[in-house]
Amino acid sequence: MWRSRVDAVFALGTPTANGEIEGLGKSLHEQMRHDHLITSKQLSRADIERVLDHAAEIDADRSAVADRHADTLLGLLFFEPSTRTKMSFETAMKRLGGDVVDMGSVESSSVTKGETLADTVRVIEGYTDALVLRHPKQGAATMASEFVDVPLLNAGDGAGHHPTQTLLDLYTIRENAGLDDLTIGIMGDLKYGRTVHSLAYALSNFDTRQHFISPESLQLPREVVYDLHQEQERVQIREHESIDEVLPSLDVLYVTRIQRERFPDENEYQQVAGKYQIDTETLDAASDELTVMHPLPRVDEIAPAVDETDHAAYFEQAHNGVPVRMALLDLLLSNGGEDNE
Ligand code: ASP
Repeated sequence: MWRSRVDAVFALGTPTANGEIEGLGKSLHEQMRHDHLITSKQLSRADIERVLDHAAEIDADRSAVADRHADTLLGLLFFEPSTRTKMSFETAMKRLGGDVVDMGSVESSSVTKGETLADTVRVIEGYTDALVLRHPKQGAATMASEFVDVPLLNAGDGAGHHPTQTLLDLYTIRENAGLDDLTIGIMGDLKYGRTVHSLAYALSNFDTRQHFISPESLQLPREVVYDLHQEQERVQIREHESIDEVLPSLDVLYVTRIQRERFPDENEYQQVAGKYQIDTETLDAASDELTVMHPLPRVDEIAPAVDETDHAAYFEQAHNGVPVRMALLDLLLSNGGEDNE
């Protein structure tokens, strides 16, 4: 199971001497109340289903949770650009009746005076009930979480993880194709793509065939491949350089951006930029039922003409960020809503 391999700092529950996790069997709220969400490795199938089911309830009728967190303040600390993640967290908190306190841009904060991340999070946790952190350095969220008691949600740590994106990805996959017996292609920048790393781990709680399509230089990190291989009973994985051989078999195609900002060398980026693109012609070979997703922003990976087809689910996916983050915040910050019902 994922949990037995998870570092104690990451785990929602606490591993005991025999490797079991205390807290399993408790509600997500009980497990997560004072904990942090740093990587999707923390999430069991039951945890995922709890969040997605609650998101579906909220999606159907958000009035039931509209004032539930009227006194709650969420701290937003974004050390890297963000549109969807930041705005959907803000929308989610406000739709739950709460509000946000935003550090603003790095340039306008005390970070420019040399303040450490540890000091920044310790100060802002004193103002707020939970923190959302995005940072360009992989591992930053783990480090920051060691300094705070309020829940800290990793909204992307460099090329590491992005677990809340994964929850909305899973919600979108569940709505469009179902999560079990799924054949998914994940294409593009698999090396630096944090959404990919988080999604691959989370999908491994379900019966999945995962096809990874990328140039050799942007393959999935070997440790992720190793970890996925440990789940062979449920998960089959294959790596490819071309999409052609797998496209017809896919239920979902998850396209990602080649992340220019993560390449140590611009020449390396230029060699792979624009190599993996989907247009309506490419999709002629796909099943009519294929769902095309993308965490966005896209650059040139998906031609605008695809937007008009029934395959396109990436704007729906972005919109799902609000109910999913509302569900997660509600479960984290209250007794799963039960005491309010
Ligand atoms: N928005 C996603 C992320 O923050 C994907 C991307 O930037 O390409 O990782």
